[in-house]
Amino acid sequence: MQSHSVTLDKARCIGCTDCIKRCPTEAIRVRGSKATIIEERCIDCGNCIRICRNGAKQAVTDELSLMNQFKYKVVLPAPSLYGQFPKAPNITAILNALYEIGFTEVFEVATASEMITKYIGDYLESAKYFPMISSSCPVIIRLIQRRFPSLMQQVLPIISPMELAARFIKTQYKLRKIDESQVGVFFISPCPAKATELHRPKGIEKSSVDGVFAIQSLYKPILNILSHPSYKGAKRQSGAAGIAWAMQTGGIDEKRIKNHIAVDGLDNVIAILEKVEDGSLNHVTYIEALACTGGCLGGVLNIENAFMSRNTLKKWIDEEEKDTREVLSKYQIQLLQSIPYLFEKDLTPRLVFTLDQDVNRALEKMTEIELLYNRLPHIDCGSCGAPTCRCFAEDVVMQKSNIEECIFILREKIKELSDQMYQLTQTVIPTDSKK
Ligand code: SF4
Ligand code: SF4
Repeated sequence: MQSHSVTLDKARCIGCTDCIKRCPTEAIRVRGSKATIIEERCIDCGNCIRICRNGAKQAVTDELSLMNQFKYKVVLPAPSLYGQFPKAPNITAILNALYEIGFTEVFEVATASEMITKYIGDYLESAKYFPMISSSCPVIIRLIQRRFPSLMQQVLPIISPMELAARFIKTQYKLRKIDESQVGVFFISPCPAKATELHRPKGIEKSSVDGVFAIQSLYKPILNILSHPSYKGAKRQSGAAGIAWAMQTGGIDEKRIKNHIAVDGLDNVIAILEKVEDGSLNHVTYIEALACTGGCLGGVLNIENAFMSRNTLKKWIDEEEKDTREVLSKYQIQLLQSIPYLFEKDLTPRLVFTLDQDVNRALEKMTEIELLYNRLPHIDCGSCGAPTCRCFAEDVVMQKSNIEECIFILREKIKELSDQMYQLTQTVIPTDSKK
């Protein structure tokens, strides 16, 4: 089973260490001039893909040919897809292009997002803990599991719009008595974390999505079709509120959720979660946290700059395509409302910083780390291949690195050695005196 969608191409890595400091969970080390990702720490945020100038960090998503394994090929475009095509006449033209590519049905995730916005408002009316934290960004859930386990009960136990949309489609086909094996449901994703979600879903037993395609892999085919369109049968269903999910505050119904914070970008999210952890945000009802700067429009699998695509989306939102928009039928709305949307199982912490199962040994190791850390220069230079001096001390105590990897310690040792050699030369009887 694929456990991560961010991987390393060792052949391309030059060991420059640029990526180690940008990883929010200290998951990267450079050893022997090559980066490695510590799997249990990685949250698939994609920061290392952004930072690596050599293309050594890559996102693994499904090949488009996967859809050929199914008779019914249903595609779920994320709203951020629309922001990639500033020159398209409207959203419907983009949906038409998806049919031309070969999908047999298009269902907009933005439509399911509108329903999730309502569910969030409902849930917050009777929530036990505050502030509740949004669960739609899988990177944020993984971050909380690893760095903020005390906040797990504050994660909103509501499935993502992608999952709701996929369940809705599968239910529709089931009601039509079409065997599930014939129906492939594919998400067009702005980020690698959604691909990981497919194989290791959070809060649910199994994802209803069968494949995840990167926006990047559909960009050129759609662009080509937009310049020579032929299919004209698509109908846009999504409204402004659903499309806004691609940006910050998408899941917030301003009329119902009065005291909220919308935060994006991992450094900012971590700063806010630290405040939640120390209790200084207890007066806040809801925090919508998105890992990428600019929300899903900032995902690494997009093509356009996040700020430019935001501009494009705002244009679509303002235009609304009132004449062509086909709102879901009453039957479809009832069906969508009947789909279970709460988590089926609790989130569990993923404690990756455990020093030892034996508490006494763990305490000893903690002391060893402190002692070693105090010997280090505390400048976090990264030349040892670890992101910080503290990380390096942990690695050495956990026998994952050697103390001589620190150039300062190495220099000390060389100096000691040269002093010893000098002393030795002073004690040796000169050759002349033997005569
Ligand atoms: S940024 Fe990281 S993965 Fe990329 S070349 Fe440098 S060390 Fe290797
Ligand atoms: S994807 Fe994010 S968490 Fe994983 S190694 Fe890269 S920067 Fe670290």
